[in-house]
This record gives sequence, structure tokens and C-alpha cells, in this order.
Amino acid sequence: MVIIVGSGAGGATVAKEVAAKGLSVTLIEKGPEIEDKDAFKHYSNVDSEVKVMRTICLGGTTTVSAGNGVRCLEEELRQVGIDLKVEFEEGEKELGVGVLPDSLFGEGTRRIMDAAENLGLDVKKMPKFIDPNRCKSDGRCSFGCPEAAKWSALSFVKEAERNGAKILTNMPVDGVLVKNGEVKGVRCGDRVSSDDTVVLSAGALETPRLLKRMGLPTSSSSLFVDTFITIGGILAGIGFNKDVTMNAVMKFEDFLLSPHFSRHLVNGMERRGLKASPEDILGIMVKIKDEEVGVLDEKVEKGVTNRDAVLLSEGASLAGSILGEAGADPATFVSTPLRGAHPGGTARIGIAVDQNLETEVSGLYVVDASVLPAAPGAPPILTIVALAKYVSRIIAR
Ligand SMILES: Cc1cc2nc3c(=O)[nH]c(=O)nc-3n(C[C@H](O)[C@H](O)[C@H](O)COP(=O)(O)OP(=O)(O)OC[C@H]3O[C@@H](n4cnc5c(N)ncnc54)[C@H](O)[C@@H]3O)c2cc1C
Repeated sequence: MVIIVGSGAGGATVAKEVAAKGLSVTLIEKGPEIEDKDAFKHYSNVDSEVKVMRTICLGGTTTVSAGNGVRCLEEELRQVGIDLKVEFEEGEKELGVGVLPDSLFGEGTRRIMDAAENLGLDVKKMPKFIDPNRCKSDGRCSFGCPEAAKWSALSFVKEAERNGAKILTNMPVDGVLVKNGEVKGVRCGDRVSSDDTVVLSAGALETPRLLKRMGLPTSSSSLFVDTFITIGGILAGIGFNKDVTMNAVMKFEDFLLSPHFSRHLVNGMERRGLKASPEDILGIMVKIKDEEVGVLDEKVEKGVTNRDAVLLSEGASLAGSILGEAGADPATFVSTPLRGAHPGGTARIGIAVDQNLETEVSGLYVVDASVLPAAPGAPPILTIVALAKYVSRIIAR
């Protein structure tokens, strides 16, 4: 019997894997049951100098992802004794990771890719977990896909349910029960669910709070978020806001660049007295491996260090050159506010959990972005899915 707390990348994968092995599973989720297309209604972003993004609903933050499926932290995890080769391969197959056909590359994305090549940069198509036969290229990936063309953890939740898992929604877990060093279940208000295996997958901003309440170690002063901004400028009538978001990538040592439209660009231009509609804007995201010095306490404190600022400026300057080469008007360039969409590192391997992702309480595991050993500076879902598969094998044994 296994209780899983949270149904995002980590929790839904464990639920699917262990239910398929015939174990009895209860998946407890704080947010409501939703359809992919309604995910944007469940953003529950956390304010700080860098705004931290996430959603609270069945399927967790995977429901608003851009569908980017890349391996990250493979080497860092190997160094702590976790080899995910098999799990990555399985995950890529199940999520359907691959590059999209040319027909799903819009004019704006193509112009950015050509411009980057003209400037001598290495630009690649981004591997996606998007079904090309269902994708309508409406630019709504991060709202929740109206066609459910993009993989989200909701599909794993449904698979777990078909294999007998009990799914409880609108139930925030607020405590973990322990006796004689062994986990005994979880509490949600007055309601107690008992079990001898509990997996915490409530995300990097919630899991450490549950651990702290139990007096267990965390690394909640080492929060990273992969801080990002998007630089945009006007290119009249380009229609880039409908392109598949982040369909290409340029990788650098500690940051990446990717074609990206954001509504914040429209607002930024309005503030500067520029008249632009969403159809007229071309943009590039600058996403960095930020320094791991954010603090998760009652509140989240996440700012920008000198090193972060240097990386963001370096990326922004390159993004500006590419946008200019692609035809956007440099006089119109604006930036979005600082945000971070990959919170993690708050209950790390080696501090909060061991190599099996088990805490010092027997039977209590952590499987979500909290355990990641370093800022990935890249999309982490595939890595969390692979880690969840790895732990599921340990639990089933
Ligand atoms: C806009 C956006 C786009 C992104 N795009 C990509 C992308 O293209 N590719 C990629 O790899 N990554 C992407 N990410 C990041 C990715 O979505 C997250 O890193 C990933 O979902 C984290 O997985 P997790 O299991 O740690 O947490 P989550 O997926 O957030 O799941 C945590 C779950 O726990 C639930 N929960 C919280 N507290 C409790 C509680 N007390 N009791 C019960 N349940 C609780 C939450 O409601 C949620 O369902 C994106 C993120 C954002 C915001």
C-alpha cells in the first residue's frame, strides 16, 4: 500500500508505476480535478523579486508546461549514484518525446532560427512531448492545451486510476504521521489516511514545509528557479503568438535562449507608449541556471545575484541581436518581469533524502523537483519522471 501526496510530474508517475505493479495506491491532491484546457485558471504563483510559477490542480504544473522534453542533470545524478539511463529511455517513449514536423514551425520561429544561424549560433529544434497529429499550433501550451495534444501528468493519473488507484482531490495534506522512526500515514485536517509507505510529491515549495513540520532536514535555503525573462520587439503582423511555444533552443554554458511569446511584452510596450497587438511581437526567452540561494520559509525570498544579473544581461544582449537580425525593430525592445518556472533543490539528495530518495523516516520518500541536486537551467519534467520511475522500482521491491 502506498500513499502519494501531490499529482504532478513526480507524484503522478509514481502512482502510475506502482499501480501497474499491482500495489494499492491512494493519490492525494490539494487542488481540484481539471481538464488540460482549464489549467491556466489554477496558476498559484508565489510573489518575490523573482516570481515563482506553479499550478495547484490535478496534474500539477505539468498541465501548463511548454511541452519541452529534455534530459537534464544526468551527470550530476550519476555522481550521486543514480543512473537513469533506462528510466530516461522509458520516459521519452511514454511521453512521446521528439521534434515536431516543419509544418508546426511558424514564420516567427523560423525567422529566429534563421537569424541565429546567420549570426553563427548553434540552434536546434526543441524536443517536445506534443502529439503533432493533434497540435493545432494555437500558442496555448502554457494555458493548458485545448486539444490535449501535449502530454501532462493527467494522463498518468488516469492510467493509475484504471489500474485501481484511489484519487482524492481538494485535499491538502498538512501532516505526516510517524511512529518509532517509521511512517504511518498522512493527515489532512481531521482526516487520517494510514499506510506504511508515503511518497511526498507536493512540489519544491510545499514538500519541504511538510518535512520541516516533522523536524526533518531540508535544504530550503538553496532554492533555485531557473530565472527567466523574455525580450521582445515589434515585427508587424508576424503572428508569432500562435506559434508552438519554445519550439527551438540555443544552449550556452549557463543559459539558454528559446523563441517565446509572452503577454507581458504587450503590457511592457503599452507602458512605453508603443502600440502593439499580440500578433505583432517577436520574442526570445533567456533562461539561466540561477544561483541556488533562494529561501523557502513562511514566505519565498528569491532575488537576482550579481552572477545571475550578468548571465541575464549576456543572454538579453544575444537575444536582442537575434531579434534585430530576424526583422524586429530594436527601438521597440522590452523585457518581461523576472520569473522562475522550475523551483527545486529544497529537499536535496544527500541532505533530505538518500540515494533511494528515502528520508531518515523509514518508508517516507520524496519524489519531486525538491530533490534535484543542482539548478538544471533546462526543463526538468523528464528528469523528474525518470527519478519517479527509479523510486517506484525501489518501492515495489
Ligand atoms: C509555465 C510553465 C511552463 C513549464 N514548461 C516546462 C516544460 O516545457 N518542460 C519541463 O520539463 N518543465 C516545464 N515546467 C516546469 C515543470 O512544470 C515543473 O518543474 C514540474 O512540474 C515540477 O514537478 P513536481 O512534481 O516537482 O511539482 P508539480 O508538478 O507542481 O506537482 C506538485 C503537486 O502537488 C500538489 N500539492 C501541493 N501541496 C500539496 C499538499 N499539501 N497536499 C497535496 N497535494 C499538494 C500540487 O497541487 C501539484 O499537483 C514549466 C513550468 C511552468 C510554470
